[in-house]
Amino acid sequence: MKNKNKERIEELVSILNKLNYEYYTLDNPSVSDQEYDRLMQELIKLEKLYPEYIDPNSPTKRVGGKINESFKKIKHEIPLLSLSNVFTESDIINFDNRILKENIIDGLYVCELKIDGLSVSLRYKDGKLLYAATRGDGIIGEDITDNVKTIKTIPLTLTEPIDIEVRGEIYISKKNLEKINSERIKEGLEPFKNARNLASGSIRQLDSSVVAKRNLDAFIYHLPNPMDYGINSHHESLEFMKKLGFRVNPNNQLVKGVDGILEYISEKTKIRDSLEYDIDGVVIKLDNILNQMKLGSTVKYPKWATAYKFPPEEVVTKLKDIIFTVGRTGQVTPNAILEPVDVMGSTISKTTLHNEEYVLEKDIRIGDYVVIIKAGDVIPRVESVKKERRTGTEIPFKMTDTCPICHSKLVKVDSNYYCKNNDCDAKHIESLIHFASRDAMNITGFGERIVEDMYNLGYVKSIPDFYKLDRFKNEIMLLEGYGEKSINNLLEEIEKSKGNSLEKLLFALGVRHVGLKTATIIVRKFLNIDNLIKATYEDLRDIPDVGEIIAKSVKDYFSDSKNLDLIHELQELGLNMEYLGIVVDNPNIKDKNFVITGTLNMKRDELKDKIISNGGKVIESVSRKTDYLVLGRDPGSKYEKAKNLNIKILNEDEILKLLNEKK
Ligand code: NAD
Repeated sequence: MKNKNKERIEELVSILNKLNYEYYTLDNPSVSDQEYDRLMQELIKLEKLYPEYIDPNSPTKRVGGKINESFKKIKHEIPLLSLSNVFTESDIINFDNRILKENIIDGLYVCELKIDGLSVSLRYKDGKLLYAATRGDGIIGEDITDNVKTIKTIPLTLTEPIDIEVRGEIYISKKNLEKINSERIKEGLEPFKNARNLASGSIRQLDSSVVAKRNLDAFIYHLPNPMDYGINSHHESLEFMKKLGFRVNPNNQLVKGVDGILEYISEKTKIRDSLEYDIDGVVIKLDNILNQMKLGSTVKYPKWATAYKFPPEEVVTKLKDIIFTVGRTGQVTPNAILEPVDVMGSTISKTTLHNEEYVLEKDIRIGDYVVIIKAGDVIPRVESVKKERRTGTEIPFKMTDTCPICHSKLVKVDSNYYCKNNDCDAKHIESLIHFASRDAMNITGFGERIVEDMYNLGYVKSIPDFYKLDRFKNEIMLLEGYGEKSINNLLEEIEKSKGNSLEKLLFALGVRHVGLKTATIIVRKFLNIDNLIKATYEDLRDIPDVGEIIAKSVKDYFSDSKNLDLIHELQELGLNMEYLGIVVDNPNIKDKNFVITGTLNMKRDELKDKIISNGGKVIESVSRKTDYLVLGRDPGSKYEKAKNLNIKILNEDEILKLLNEKK
């Protein structure tokens, strides 16, 4: 029997490992930090509940990413750990309680800004910089000494000739990030996702002159061996490092208890935007060094410190409209149409409002300014309404009582409304799922769930929408489980499907009674869509294995102007409309051009079919590109032309022999 929890743990481990690789090794994350943190929290929770399924290589047990082999390696004498995360006031109270439980009751913490960069370890001998290393996997780091030397705020010589290791954060200012990104955009390059990735990518450049141009900066915040210097508290170690010439952040503050921590967080949240560098939270560290040692560390985090992460960024935009969409189960959902707004690098123009209750509870009205947040949620959500910005023209929400598609009366079940009409949207979704399926257009990645998502979010409402999906790339990248790589893969698959042979398209269109085999038989006969559209009922009926029912269904399909419009649109979108089938790869025939002239014993179409299904092409007129002329009785001018051009001439027996040789 399948074990859901075990499977989910395995899935999370694999997703998080992939995200770590993108983030730490490629410096190019595909999801937001909040999304990552949410997945990580889910894994931590599941591992706590089901320790029997913990993977020894779980990302909860490891620090950072892989080491770039291009750099020399440096072993950290004291592991360079990460920090545990807290997100809410009650998380902070729990953190404090755990410390109180150890009989540590002075309640003294140092709060610091959590600089959004990458950690660095600096080692000095006789007051001179010996080397600098990244955190790496916490045990082994990368030697970035040459690059660090380009950072003006890192002293090469200290005020005292001592041996010491200090740790801190390398970062890039917001101004520099903006400058570099606007230059990149001008050059047609992808902008960096955030300051941290730019800083990390820059410091790991092999060419120091490139690093120098990036104008990196650093703050120093940690002394791993304070007692060696007679220091007993973290706040004193910060003072000590400052005196040695290190740049220490001026916002660090000694506070008392949870109240002190919360006050610090609230103050710093207010000044966050005015800082010249990005911060993503506040680090809380127990001040007393002996107490720190008493608490110790896990393999990944010190137990005496934690990082409070700021809630996700909020943006305000206007809600222009509320529209209703229908899901596969028939559930009707309200969706907000938004004035397009940038949320953490992606433009959002639409988001779900879940159900009537959600909208009424938040009193969301058309015309309101709303707060959008992109948290760990599947899609960005409308968090609240800026009621103070109302002008009185806003339109209160009213749940629809009819299906937006088929207009049948909705039925309320619990807090949700359903369209019970079987012919309704569910059918559309089914037809899209069919279109993308393997035997049809084979758009790998477009499984049921994704098609349904894309449909419900309004990205793929009809078949042509598959081929216009790239306009929503930035939005889709924000959805859970997508990311840049997966959307790129989907787009690639969509593009690839354009080249499918016509029988796949004919099957994908969902013409009644036409399975893939029948579609192939029909398409082999007509070769391209124009011929197929022009085919009469009799033409179709007379094809062996087709018959009356299929012939009528196909004829009806191609007589409906809606379907013809659809085909026309697909043609314009670049879909192949020809039969490309090669049933037998016959080197005698493959890629050769044939022209047929005169009357043959066999049906001309039958011969055409045979040539095509052996990989050859049948063309209408003779030219230098013609490889063979098949000559029947009473030939026309094509015969003369072929003779003049010295084209090989085959009679009926000869062509059949060539077809049957298959060598
Ligand atoms: P972290 O960034 O949550 O916290 C630890 C780090 O904070 C330290 O290593 C240090 O570099 C830094 N820091 C900044 N100011 C500090 C200060 N004053 N004192 C001490 N440390 C300070 O942990 P991490 O292990 O570096 O990274 C994990 C985080 O990275 C995740 O929580 C997530 O936000 C992000 N991440 C995102 C993705 C993604 O795909 N988006 C993937 C991996 C990691």
